[in-house]
Amino acid sequence: VFLSFEGIDGSGKSTQARTLANALRGLGRDVVLTREPGGSPGAEEIRALVLQGDPDRWSAETEILLFTAARRDHLERTIQPALERGAVVICDRFADSTRVYQGLSRGDLRDTVDQLHTLMIGREPDITILIDMDPEIGLSRALSRRGAEERFEDFGADLQRAMRKGFLALAAGAPDRFRVIDGTGTTDEVFSRLQADLPELFTT
Ligand code: C5P
Repeated sequence: VFLSFEGIDGSGKSTQARTLANALRGLGRDVVLTREPGGSPGAEEIRALVLQGDPDRWSAETEILLFTAARRDHLERTIQPALERGAVVICDRFADSTRVYQGLSRGDLRDTVDQLHTLMIGREPDITILIDMDPEIGLSRALSRRGAEERFEDFGADLQRAMRKGFLALAAGAPDRFRVIDGTGTTDEVFSRLQADLPELFTT
């Protein structure tokens, strides 16, 4: 089974992804926890190209190509082999992040994102867990732990709000794939909601 976690910066999705991976490993499942951009050696190199250095180095279109190239490598080298051997793959961000960030943040490029996805990726996760979070809380959480690697620290509250709206719209358009989880509260509180919403993951 292929699961992705999505959400705005500071939503807590990486913590929830890790918590779920540990819980499923505790049940004896083979779990591959991975992330985007990155998740394979080549894709991690592309991540560094995109997220480090001058934010204007790449045009919006080139950036979409780089994210898609990274995803293709990640899919070929990490995700598909793991799914083929029967592992649970938990991916921290996948194509929905590109639909929202690259599709909306530097102009309306959603069509370009979708066409490249169809051509080069061609699959969705089985289940996408959207950790929904108030943008103000998300932003303060994200800024407080922002490391030197990230170039996105100028993400303001307006953009965070637009990204949240974008994720919620994707979820509304694909209700069979998405589960929207309220991300407020402690890690344990959010994880309890996730367990309650996804009982099928915890049965064998
Ligand atoms: O999820 P993570 O914190 O690793 O994401 C790193 C940064 O890259 C974030 O600031 C996120 O907003 C940005 N990003 C992006 N487009 C993507 C994926 C992530 O702009 N497709």
